[in-house]
Amino acid sequence: MLEVLNASEETVQILERALSGERLTEEEALHLLNCSSSEVLLAGFAAHRLRELRAGNFVTYVVNRNINFTNICIGSCTFCAFRRRGHEGDAYMMTPEQVAECAREAAARGASEVCIQGGLHPEATLEQYIAILKAVKSAANVHIHAFSPMEVHHIARRSGIGIKETLRALKEAGLDSMPGTAAEILVDRVRARICPEKLSTQEWVRIIMQAHRLGIPTTATMLYGHVESARDKVEHLRIIRRIQDRTRGFTEFVPLSFIHHRTALYARGESRAGATGLEDLRVYVVSRLYLDNFRNLQVSWVKLGRKLAQLMLCYGANDFGGTLMEENISRSAGASNEMMSEEEIRRLIIDAGFEPRRRDTLYNLL
Ligand code: SF4
Repeated sequence: MLEVLNASEETVQILERALSGERLTEEEALHLLNCSSSEVLLAGFAAHRLRELRAGNFVTYVVNRNINFTNICIGSCTFCAFRRRGHEGDAYMMTPEQVAECAREAAARGASEVCIQGGLHPEATLEQYIAILKAVKSAANVHIHAFSPMEVHHIARRSGIGIKETLRALKEAGLDSMPGTAAEILVDRVRARICPEKLSTQEWVRIIMQAHRLGIPTTATMLYGHVESARDKVEHLRIIRRIQDRTRGFTEFVPLSFIHHRTALYARGESRAGATGLEDLRVYVVSRLYLDNFRNLQVSWVKLGRKLAQLMLCYGANDFGGTLMEENISRSAGASNEMMSEEEIRRLIIDAGFEPRRRDTLYNLL
């Protein structure tokens, strides 16, 4: 069966190993990330089969709302078009009551989750973050998925307390799970080029593992398609797989395809114009084949667009992410996808040949 396409013997052997349940090596992942366009089809077949075995033949999604509570940020990530300095006209900071009002509206529209993230406000305090969590919890019966490892790092530094104490205080105030964002590419040489002031690879790993140890599950993400090499992507995946082996605290892996249009990184000629469609396919396929300890691979329709996101369901992905209701970060960078209704998500899933299943943040079917 696998010989019908024009694939090298090495590629076929790697795919057969993956299909028989063997763990792929980093060199094998690298080989697949560099495979030919016809081999991608074959690798997609293997990824699809593995997804069926691990996650069934249905596609999950969550009804949620994104709340980006401030765009004021002291960071300088050159891939980011969302951040504003405090003096800029369109800089904003929502009060805890305003965040809670958004959560109340979301719950009234059927959301089971709010995803709360923001910039690194220069005067942020732990108390402000706690106030947001408490206000949301008292306003709405929703799961709070909030604050990236970078935000946790920022709060801890600003408040002069340790990571563990910060996470514990956030959990006590209502934090249910965290987005594994701010990972970008977990290679410090790459981070120095695209987000020099962000936490290091080691700090990101430390915060994620600490969260998992405290019973705070997180997602895992990877921002690709800018300055990184295929080997950098493999190193990122290696770190993610190793953490998952140790903690089992990741709920899913979400590859994030770089939106370049309005970013300084691209304007200065320092990055590619995002990944090609084929690169997107390769990343999703390799994520499914290499990350053998992840059940869930989520498409980011905000980054990929509706049609490519739908196609990824045949290339190893089993989750369509959330309705979001509003999305500011990718839109600031030039993405044209801001929200999707539950009906539209279900239609895209059905049209791709799968059964849609609504879930909560932790993948319990609703
Ligand atoms: S990615 Fe986050 S930390 Fe970096 S500049 Fe943008 S808002 Fe700030």
